[in-house]
Amino acid sequence: MFDKFVAPIIFATLHCEKFGNSSIVKFNLREFQVRVTFLGTGTSQGVPVIACPCQVCRSFDPRDKRLRSSVMIEENGLSIVIDTGPDFRTQMLREHVTNVDAILFTHEHKDHTAGLDDIRSFNYLKQRPMDVYAEEAVIRSLKMEFAYVFAEKKYPGVPQIEVHSIGTEPFMIRDLTIIPIRAIHYQLPVLGFRIGDFTYITDANYIPGDEKEKIAGTRHLVISGLRKQKHISHFSLSEAIELINEFSPKRGYITHISHQMGLHEEVSRELPPNVMLAYDGLKIEF
Ligand SMILES: [Zn+2]
Ligand SMILES: [Zn+2]
Repeated sequence: MFDKFVAPIIFATLHCEKFGNSSIVKFNLREFQVRVTFLGTGTSQGVPVIACPCQVCRSFDPRDKRLRSSVMIEENGLSIVIDTGPDFRTQMLREHVTNVDAILFTHEHKDHTAGLDDIRSFNYLKQRPMDVYAEEAVIRSLKMEFAYVFAEKKYPGVPQIEVHSIGTEPFMIRDLTIIPIRAIHYQLPVLGFRIGDFTYITDANYIPGDEKEKIAGTRHLVISGLRKQKHISHFSLSEAIELINEFSPKRGYITHISHQMGLHEEVSRELPPNVMLAYDGLKIEF
């Protein structure tokens, strides 16, 4: 519903998403409310893999350069980052990010937490601790991995964080509702997150039936799909597509991609029209 005083200054938001060789550009005649940026779409080693001579690791296509998986969600001045992997600093610089209000952690694996130290810039900028939301098991792991952050007598200049313990119940960050979704990563319980029409689930190979109800109706669904071959702790590409099809979102996105997946360009041609491989820097607005 457009207010008559607002209507004359409606913004035309340009969406430009590339699918293989073809570019689909559509205009959406409303101001965007949520913007999601894929900060990284790679698996734990990233792509290229150090010292790997395979064709994906030698590719010149920028979409074959994948930093460790993370997304940033911006809504009405609020900026939330899911996971701070080892590439967090590079991702913040690449996307010229000047504000992060909160970090959500999916799980404690190093490729999702290693960059936490670099939230310090936001401490200096905002002169306050960073709000960090994670499950108890993840908090315990952070306390071991980043003991100096939690030390009673802290060295000057260490990251300042305010930890919020979460479970699978919805919670609020300002006026935004975050719905955690339980998923299983081999034997490790992890969390996915639904924020409005956007759902992000990485590092999983199973989602319990009752948790799936939280995903129903989502329009943008991100699922990790490591590679084409089956894997012990991650959905394969075909398993991820099958899961996306269960929910019929407007679009499904594959993330946490290994060099074993193949070239972005070639794999993209094999995908159903409503599914795409995410790539670093991809933005979706809705
Ligand atoms: Zn991972
Ligand atoms: Zn993991």
